[in-house]
Amino acid sequence: MESKSNILMQRYELGRLLGQGTFGKVYYARSSITNQSVAIKMIDKDKVMRTGQADQIKREISVMSRAKHPNIIELFEVMATRTKIYFVMEYAKGGELFNKVAKGKLNEDVAHKYFKQLVNAVDFCHSRGVYHRDIKPENILLDEIGNLKVSDFGLSALTQSNRQDGLLHTSCGTPAYVAPEIIKRKGYDGAKADIWSCGIVLFVLLAGYLPFRDSNLIEMYRKISKAEFKCPNWFPPEVCRLLSKILDPNPETRISIARVKESSWFKKGPNAGRKKHESENNNASSSGTNISYQSDDVPAAETREESVMPKSINAFDIISLSSSFDLSKFFGDGFRKRAARFTSRQPASAIISKLEEIANRLRLKINKKAGGLLKLEGLNEGRKGVLSIDAEIFELAPLFHLVEVKKSNGDTLEYQKILNEDIRPSLQDIVWVWQTDQQQQSQQSETIVV
Ligand code: ATP
Ligand code: MG
Repeated sequence: MESKSNILMQRYELGRLLGQGTFGKVYYARSSITNQSVAIKMIDKDKVMRTGQADQIKREISVMSRAKHPNIIELFEVMATRTKIYFVMEYAKGGELFNKVAKGKLNEDVAHKYFKQLVNAVDFCHSRGVYHRDIKPENILLDEIGNLKVSDFGLSALTQSNRQDGLLHTSCGTPAYVAPEIIKRKGYDGAKADIWSCGIVLFVLLAGYLPFRDSNLIEMYRKISKAEFKCPNWFPPEVCRLLSKILDPNPETRISIARVKESSWFKKGPNAGRKKHESENNNASSSGTNISYQSDDVPAAETREESVMPKSINAFDIISLSSSFDLSKFFGDGFRKRAARFTSRQPASAIISKLEEIANRLRLKINKKAGGLLKLEGLNEGRKGVLSIDAEIFELAPLFHLVEVKKSNGDTLEYQKILNEDIRPSLQDIVWVWQTDQQQQSQQSETIVV
């Protein structure tokens, strides 16, 4: 399956694709010198580091390369060519933790073990001034003996530099793990935002579903901003108490990690001996990560044909396939009616001017109606009458909008062509996340699973 020509930097034999993130792909690889299994994350340089956060990124990567913790994916080496950056990391053989949850909720002891490991990892990095900012299922992995390993610590600054306003994004386009202050676009404290995400993880582990769910995306955002959730009756009362302190919408009154660690539920259970093991491992290594540069690109690594690889199914795909986790329900009926939806961090006026600009260019008449509805209409009869497109803007939070684009009249093919070839690409600079992408992803994985 693997050809011998797939050797990276004369040192790593590349294997299968483990997954794909927003900024690049992660491959399994083996060191040809030590035979050790590793995971290599490959990122295009031009996709990151555009917005002058280079110093912060370098600082965090260098901190992470020295900080070793049993529950954090170790960064062994960073390599770079003219166009790519390669992060050589510890390989987490057990895959994503949430693949376990997709099979059913976990019992209290198991959830407790994972939550403790997660909080310890997060606390350790905070103590070194590094905040994760993107704790989500894809970044919570397991090793071969079932220990939790957080990945991408220190790398989030890298990927966020390219996200509008440095705000978080989640892979499925729902803010399921994101703290309310981030949705509300307030400046935020990385430590408090990470605690919120840990709380969501704890809830999902024990419940088997997300705390903030609704048949309607707008309603879901509202619930997050008010922290409106209900613990199922099988949650131990101590967990409910702890969760109500973690999922506090006000970051100022939200519990700190130190206090989470002091809570009776966190401290309970068979943990004797762990402290010693952790502190032994927490010492920063003196050797640190190797940072090396090579002037030329390595064709073997870059010409890999991903189309022959099966698309990996991520935790969200699995979650959305399992009935108790049906994320597509978040998007309501309109989602199934093939409305294209995206969220935007731009003010409504900027969204409207962008739509006007597109309408002018496409020679469509634009009609602004009350309640944030814009009607874009063709001047001529199409195959099935005049093409008419509705773009509706909903305010989810100040400076955070959801825009729904759908055909209200005319030929579907004509509409899809204009949407995909003109409207979608032209909207690129105001779009935060396209909500339809997740639907497409889960449709693809469905065909793989069935
Ligand atoms: P983002 O682009 O927002 O970081 P992401 O975390 O999903 O999203 P990557 O970090 O590129 O993207 O990871 C892609 C996938 O590769 C993950 O979903 C995970 O399943 C897999 N993966 C990442 N790192 C490792 C690792 N060290 N060991 C095993 N699998 C990994
Ligand atoms: Mg990741």
